[in-house]
Formats: sequence, C-alpha cells, structure tokens
Amino acid sequence: MLTDPLLPAISPLEFREVPSNADGKQTPSPFGDGPQAPAFTLPLALRSIGRGLRKACPACGEKTMFRKYFQMEPICSNCGVIFSREQGSYTGAMYLNILVTEFLFVFGFILLEFVIGTSTMLEIAVLVPFNGLFPVWFFPRSRGLWAGVLYLCGDLYPDPS
Ligand SMILES: [Zn+2]
Repeated sequence: MLTDPLLPAISPLEFREVPSNADGKQTPSPFGDGPQAPAFTLPLALRSIGRGLRKACPACGEKTMFRKYFQMEPICSNCGVIFSREQGSYTGAMYLNILVTEFLFVFGFILLEFVIGTSTMLEIAVLVPFNGLFPVWFFPRSRGLWAGVLYLCGDLYPDPS
C-alpha cells in the first residue's frame, strides 16, 4: 500500500469511526454508518430522495440546493446542512445520471424499434438528441437524488457549532 509522507498514517479501520447514540447503540441504517445517519424508515427514504429530485434540501425540504443550474450551494441556508463535505462525494450522481440516461435510451430504442416500428432515421432523430439533452436536464436532479442518499447514509449534516 502506498502512503503519503505528508499525511499521518491511518489504518482503514480507524478511518471511519462510528459514534454511538446516548444509549450506546449505533444508529440503525441499512444505507450507511455516517456520523448523523437518521433512523431508516421507508417514508423517510422516499421523502428525502423525493426532495432531492425536486432540487430541495433532503433534510428540510427547502429549495436551497442550487445557486445556479449547474452550481450547488455549499450549505443549506435554512437548516445548515452541508451538502458536500469532501471532494468527489457527488461522483455517484454522475454514475446515476449516466445509468438513467442509458436505461431510458435503450428503453426508447426498444419502444421505437420493436413496439412502434419506426424507421431508423426517426430513431436516430429522437434518440441522439435525447442522449445529449437528457443528462443536462437530469444533472441537478441526479445530484439532488444523490444528496438524498447521502442524507440517509448520514453524510449530510450541519456542523455542530
Ligand atoms: Zn435544509
């Protein structure tokens, strides 16, 4: 394993320490073990992911996540949740965007080719622009959706001060 001489040596086991609640039990969450993971319930999962899809803060529901179309706010101005704590925490949103786009692309191709039976030129005329434009439209929504997942994992929380 390569080590950076400028960083203190931390074993992978020490890196992610899971704090326990006041009663000594760890927060039960099937998604993750972040320091502020909320107790998982299906309504909470649907609500926080739904809020993210609407580009709203997964924690409080206010539309505070985006400054501009492609630019996220660093912190929720309503509840103080920090949207991104580390570089690359929204890489999953990028994969999610690609996954949804290509799933819909293939679904659209099957629909046009085998169900409707359109010409190849019409399929190209519909699906190529779709493949270019849909990821742009879905970009903030995929980030919001991913923020909902991060919230459920306990990686979206305000600073204690
Ligand atoms: Zn908020």
